[in-house]
Amino acid sequence: MKRSKLTLFVFIDALGWEVLNRHPFFLEGVLVDRHKVETILGYSSACDPSIISGLTPAEHGLWSSFYYAPGRCTYAWLRHFRFLPGSLMDRGRVRGWMSRAIRRVHGFTGYFQLYAVPFQWLPLFDYAEKNSIWLPGGLPRGKTIFDLLSELGRPYSVHRSHTPDEQRLAELTARVRARAIEFGYVSLGKLDAYMHAHGPLDPGVGGVLAGYDARIRALLAEAQQGYEEVALYILTDHGMHTVRETCDVQSVVEALGYRFGVDYVAFYDATMVRFWVLNEGVRAPLVSALAGIDKGRLLTEAELEGMGVMFPDHQYGDLVFLMDSGVQVLPSFMGARYTKGLHGFHPSDPDSAAMLAGNRPIPDPPARVEGIYHVMLRELGLDGLYGAGGRPLSSGGRGR
Ligand SMILES: [Zn+2]
Repeated sequence: MKRSKLTLFVFIDALGWEVLNRHPFFLEGVLVDRHKVETILGYSSACDPSIISGLTPAEHGLWSSFYYAPGRCTYAWLRHFRFLPGSLMDRGRVRGWMSRAIRRVHGFTGYFQLYAVPFQWLPLFDYAEKNSIWLPGGLPRGKTIFDLLSELGRPYSVHRSHTPDEQRLAELTARVRARAIEFGYVSLGKLDAYMHAHGPLDPGVGGVLAGYDARIRALLAEAQQGYEEVALYILTDHGMHTVRETCDVQSVVEALGYRFGVDYVAFYDATMVRFWVLNEGVRAPLVSALAGIDKGRLLTEAELEGMGVMFPDHQYGDLVFLMDSGVQVLPSFMGARYTKGLHGFHPSDPDSAAMLAGNRPIPDPPARVEGIYHVMLRELGLDGLYGAGGRPLSSGGRGR
């Protein structure tokens, strides 16, 4: 006996609109409708929770990974590692191992990575995504589609964190074969990792996509065996930019001679720098020094508001300096190495664009990634009953 309907959302990290259009063979004949969707300024730590909740970062509370919160940091013991030789402690493998240890010791279920944040400054920052957004109750504010499905007792499947793509696809396929679910969401990371390392224009990108193409066609065939109707969506949260040059923002800031942690605090992401002004006298000289950097600019509060990332309490920073497309902040707290591909630039840049494609027409395609949540609700027959963040709507009301 076939089950009536299965809805699948296959998230391919960094398969942006431009990347998809350069590879028209990808799921040709399966995807009948495709749309460019605007991303949200920031990284997956901002976009993923928005896609699965319909809320902006300002609404659900997750934007960048680290934020200034002195005295709140649970892993402050790490500061003792600042006395160990940098040559050892700055190696990616050592930091990856430590990140896993910290997750275990503190019971973090979320995506915790130390990256290259200096150990002496780590105690100044807390980590936003301590809880996995993929598990029920994962958001600081609002509910995800998974919270909603759990509450409604509707069977679903979502990938487990810290597992490779192959395992994620195999586990989803097994659930589909068993006809055990009516909704499946899987996030795949190999393409993103490949393009960070080789750039989005590398010829090997096509090979990674060809691998996904075969696996997804097999998954779809399996689904059509067991279900009368299969809705398949391919989605992503951002594209990928070729890195053209680097910019040492840190030296410009440090040349001002102010004290980190006393006068100001900065967090150097790969494509933007966030500042917290602790001593008001620092603000004007800092703003003027940043204005002298011609490879990026300070975003206004109105811009941040329009992008859904303006936090009234300035949790994630008082000032946000964003690099121009293709300019990497180097050095940064994300790493000391030049990276060929990056995302996290201005959402209006063509290479930033995300996308949503389906094996069926998408009426009312979402303008920005958080709107993808409403496509999920519609496929589940829950539109009109629930709005963004799982908010119940009064009878007869419609979701955004
Ligand atoms: Zn990435």
